[in-house]
Amino acid sequence: MPDFSSQIANFISELDAAVEAHMDWSRRVLRCAVLRTSPGEDVVDPLAHSLCGFGRWFASNRKHFQKHDAPGTRRLDAVHQTMHDAVRSICLDGMAGRPGQGTDLEAFERTQSELISLLAEFKTHFFASAVRHDPLTGLPLRYGIKDEFTQVQKSCRRYKTQLYVGIIDADHFKRINDSYGHSVGDVALCHLADTLRRIVRPNEPLFRFGGEEFLLLMQCRTREAAAIAAQRIVRTVRSAPLPMGQGDALSLTITMGLARAGNDEAMADAVERADKALYAGKEAGRDRYVIADEVATA
Ligand code: GH3
Ligand code: MG
Ligand code: MG
Repeated sequence: MPDFSSQIANFISELDAAVEAHMDWSRRVLRCAVLRTSPGEDVVDPLAHSLCGFGRWFASNRKHFQKHDAPGTRRLDAVHQTMHDAVRSICLDGMAGRPGQGTDLEAFERTQSELISLLAEFKTHFFASAVRHDPLTGLPLRYGIKDEFTQVQKSCRRYKTQLYVGIIDADHFKRINDSYGHSVGDVALCHLADTLRRIVRPNEPLFRFGGEEFLLLMQCRTREAAAIAAQRIVRTVRSAPLPMGQGDALSLTITMGLARAGNDEAMADAVERADKALYAGKEAGRDRYVIADEVATA
């Protein structure tokens, strides 16, 4: 079961450790510059920026930074490399008994301070992201839904597509908790979230909307296309039971209510209609989708 909050906590403590490794490295270099001793091959190597503890950690975690802020990530790379270049130059001067260059010292001080403040900004973002995501499933929580809704609505206007709000609710989930216990219920919910995440399109934001409910913003060409997509989601969940070991599997089904949001309709109104459609689907026997004003078995 993915544990998103502990993944983020680990990532942030690794980031702290990488920054601490960088500060250790700075102290070592300062010592060598003052005492005129060799700081070691890793400092004078032309690829020093990729050999240091921070550089190695950053290279393997670059994608997390990139995802949040691609130009900021490139800037971090550049600043880090410039800092190493300046330090190499200072150390080589010192080891050769030459006085160091003021420009190198300035470059070092400037880039060191920029590096630390860029990392602090990224860290703030990672914390903010952690509280905006559900620790159980890793899906975004409802905080950002309104903004996403407005974005998707805008995109639909632009590309002349239709926005469907889909509310997906696990069927008889209470029975799963009652029969197998709450922790199996948690695993089942994660499994369901993974199944949904796999099947929805990248431009269709999926949220954990509440307990065993998810909200999907779909962009479709026509009502038929929305129906086909909803049918595929219902069928996929039905055919992807949770493996329970020893060949056993726990069946999961969902009911999905959909409503087409008008071009200028408030999100709350579209959600209310999707919710009514969901209720109609539950009444009609569950394990199906319902588009507002239309009931269909998937
Ligand atoms: P229906 O088909 O009508 O939706 O039936 P249901 O049992 O799914 O609906 P009901 O609203 O009666 O119960 C929802 C259950 O989902 C009860 C609640 O404890 C459980 N649930 C909600 N969130 C979580 C969670 O994070 N973990 C676990 N294990 N259970 C959860
Ligand atoms: Mg529910
Ligand atoms: Mg339910």
